[in-house]
Amino acid sequence: MIDFSLPPELAELQARVRSFIVGEIIPLEEDPRARGDHVDDGFRRYLNAIARKAGLLAPQAERRWGGLGLSHLARAVVFEEAGYSPLGPVAMHLHAPDEGNMHLLETVATEEQKQHWLKPLAGGEIRSAFLMTEPDGGAGADPDNLRTTARRDGTNFVINGRKWLITGGHGAALYIIMARMAEEDGATMFLADADTPGIERVREISTMAGGFTGGHAEVKLENVRVGSDAVLGEVGKGFAYAQVRLVPARLTHCMRWLGAARRAHDIAAAYARQRWAFGARLVEHQGVGFQLADNEIDLHMARLAIWHVAWLLDRGERANAASSMVKVFCSEAEYRVADRALQVLGGLGVTTDTRVEAIFRGIRAFRIYDGPSEVHRWALARRIARTDRAVGGARGN
Ligand SMILES: Cc1cc2nc3c(=O)[nH]c(=O)nc-3n(C[C@H](O)[C@H](O)[C@H](O)COP(=O)(O)OP(=O)(O)OC[C@H]3O[C@@H](n4cnc5c(N)ncnc54)[C@H](O)[C@@H]3O)c2cc1C
Repeated sequence: MIDFSLPPELAELQARVRSFIVGEIIPLEEDPRARGDHVDDGFRRYLNAIARKAGLLAPQAERRWGGLGLSHLARAVVFEEAGYSPLGPVAMHLHAPDEGNMHLLETVATEEQKQHWLKPLAGGEIRSAFLMTEPDGGAGADPDNLRTTARRDGTNFVINGRKWLITGGHGAALYIIMARMAEEDGATMFLADADTPGIERVREISTMAGGFTGGHAEVKLENVRVGSDAVLGEVGKGFAYAQVRLVPARLTHCMRWLGAARRAHDIAAAYARQRWAFGARLVEHQGVGFQLADNEIDLHMARLAIWHVAWLLDRGERANAASSMVKVFCSEAEYRVADRALQVLGGLGVTTDTRVEAIFRGIRAFRIYDGPSEVHRWALARRIARTDRAVGGARGN
């Protein structure tokens, strides 16, 4: 029998995070340092200090790094609550890209690399960035287009290339750089100090996806020299490690955006309950009531889907196909929720007087990063073509 009840300690943690977000973080949303598309690094540290005091900083990290060592299922519950405020994931240090990078380092890094990078990262002392995507025809939806190269020079490696859309690229201390081996097979991930000579932040890219500390950077890599101690895992295994990072990371995006979509829905529902038009409250007009009902259906189904894949990951399954399905479903369902919430709010929805406008803008990009919907569908379709069984295991006839 499948038990859907939350263990008491997780239910208690959920309540604690909910009251932390509502009581301590939402009141700070109007702070001038949080307005606009940037969360200032100084403000991020201030928020981290509040979360640290509440015992809620980086709860996903292993206990030895000061976290709570949350299972994937526990993350699903906690990250949704954190996502209820755009500042929640920043404050609790469970936002992208740091959260995914911490997971990658926990899984692949050596003990020395963990002490050097993971310890200060999990403690909120530094931030990190993940450098995969490239402009001008390089790595994107198809990572095989990777053009950045790493060439051996004695015991060192010399990296050349260009990256863009690098979240948190400004102000991050650690760059995890993906590069193709110039004279050997495969790609390699390197842990580089962001101030290594040859690394140049060319520009800060203006996007509709706000709320990330350090924005989105374009970065030039010119003869960046790193030692063999910078290699993450083994040379040539970069693409495999990318999967180690991406499968859980795409699920945690679903979790955080679920909280944000729930917030947008709550704001719209409250408005529809008190706003009158044509002799009735908005919610009593079927056209509005049905939109809100559809929101609750999407939110509920997204939550169930997330919990299922989290449960698979906790059982040690790779869950590649299931995480693709959930990523597509959640990014589209959560977007629909934000879109309907904005519509129900009328003119108010397009103003910055409520959080819905920023949630709507930010959530749109989620259908593109961590694999565009079309690429996940394409991967699932290729899987269907390779087998005589439907993906869910049911016979197709
Ligand atoms: C807000 C944001 C933050 C990001 N942060 C990071 C980061 O921190 N680090 C990093 O490395 N990258 C980051 N990215 C980059 C992101 O991972 C890429 O944008 C994404 O992988 C898509 O690559 P692309 O933009 O080059 O699109 P392209 O590869 O040019 O694809 C364009 C479109 O073509 C379509 N398409 C592609 N392939 C197929 C197919 N097989 N079948 C059908 N349609 C297809 C899709 O609709 C896709 O959206 C970020 C992007 C955004 C928007």
